[in-house]
Amino acid sequence: MNHHTVVLNAGKEKPVLNGHPWIFSGAIKSEPKPQESMPGDLVDVLDSKKQFIARGYYNHLSQIRVRVLTRNAQEFIHEDFLKQRISASIARRNHVLSNGLTTGVRLVAHESDQLPGLVVDQFGAWVSFQILTAGMDVWRKEIIKILLELLKPDVLIERSDEAVREKEGLKQHKQVHYGQIGDGSVQFLENGIKFVADVLNGHKTGFYLDQRDSRRIVGQYAKEKLVLNCFSYTGGFAVSCAQGGATKIVNVDESMPALDIARRHLSMNGFDPSQHEFLKADVFSYLRELRSKQQFFDMIILDPPKFITSTSQMDKACRGYKDLNLLAMQLLRPGGLLATFSCSGLIDRDLFQKVVFGASVDAKSEMQIVQHLSQAEDHPVLLSFPESMYLKGMLLRKV
Ligand code: SAH
Repeated sequence: MNHHTVVLNAGKEKPVLNGHPWIFSGAIKSEPKPQESMPGDLVDVLDSKKQFIARGYYNHLSQIRVRVLTRNAQEFIHEDFLKQRISASIARRNHVLSNGLTTGVRLVAHESDQLPGLVVDQFGAWVSFQILTAGMDVWRKEIIKILLELLKPDVLIERSDEAVREKEGLKQHKQVHYGQIGDGSVQFLENGIKFVADVLNGHKTGFYLDQRDSRRIVGQYAKEKLVLNCFSYTGGFAVSCAQGGATKIVNVDESMPALDIARRHLSMNGFDPSQHEFLKADVFSYLRELRSKQQFFDMIILDPPKFITSTSQMDKACRGYKDLNLLAMQLLRPGGLLATFSCSGLIDRDLFQKVVFGASVDAKSEMQIVQHLSQAEDHPVLLSFPESMYLKGMLLRKV
């Protein structure tokens, strides 16, 4: 692999020195000519005075030209480096796994664990990983070897079938690297609740582990409540609410296979799915339909997919969040609870709160913040990299 040098424009070294892992094209004064480098080649980053400040990997096809791996000039990038980083990241998850009630965990969370472009999730004895950048893709063989050595999983599957790879000039890729995968689903625990992850065809690496804490918190408020679970996917929130004593949960999602798994999740945990509803519908139109029928709920959960991947979509995304929250507030009984989320990294907590406030004004609903909600601790946020704080939510009460 070639090793290149990029030099930054004067003044652009500060974020890098402070720990931000991304260097955009606009920060760069000189870089290799496109034909001189391969996507994912290693690179030393120099400040405008030609002093070393970081080492990382480079991709001329991406606006994020460099992702930083180290700021230590003595640290070189090879298999052992990756193994140390991966094993340190795994060790940081002990707290999540220690009481045995949780066996589904994100072991490596890309930039936040100093491994840009790599995601590793464990579901019981199965491991599912994603490579999102050219700079990590170069190390696929080593990554597989390291994960097999460190984790000794029954199954190792790669779910690099994410559209963002195309920004890096990579094709989508899905492959079972080790083990017998059967129908692709594996059982695991989240706070004592049994779930199956469809690691072969499910979203992301198979399950939304990032909502673990919020599911537990929201479930604690569900006693004797009629719950509307929007964007239910496989019913993560539904099972927590059933466990919390909800009278009835209406689950809405556009995906029938996800709703089928939601049913299965309830019965696996000793709840009768026939007491609940599972509706394949577009949430936006379904909420409007409920409003015209004047059907009200005690608790509403809004956990939509990401609405925005580039800042050009900001207005549209904010309108989407506002519409959803406005409709939900109108469908809440007085005293009712709204658990509302945004997993759009480009919308920060302040902006999300402002949008939800706008919705409450238009809905003529006075809302209290009962609690702020966040991605679970195995999806850590780097202080130097606020972009890693992508999932935020609020538990609100209509007063
Ligand atoms: N709350 C879930 C995760 C939600 S992921 C959990 O705890 O696991 C987002 C879900 O929204 C996906 O299941 C997707 O199928 C669904 N979805 C996306 N757009 C939708 C729409 N307009 N109407 C209904 N469902 C939608």
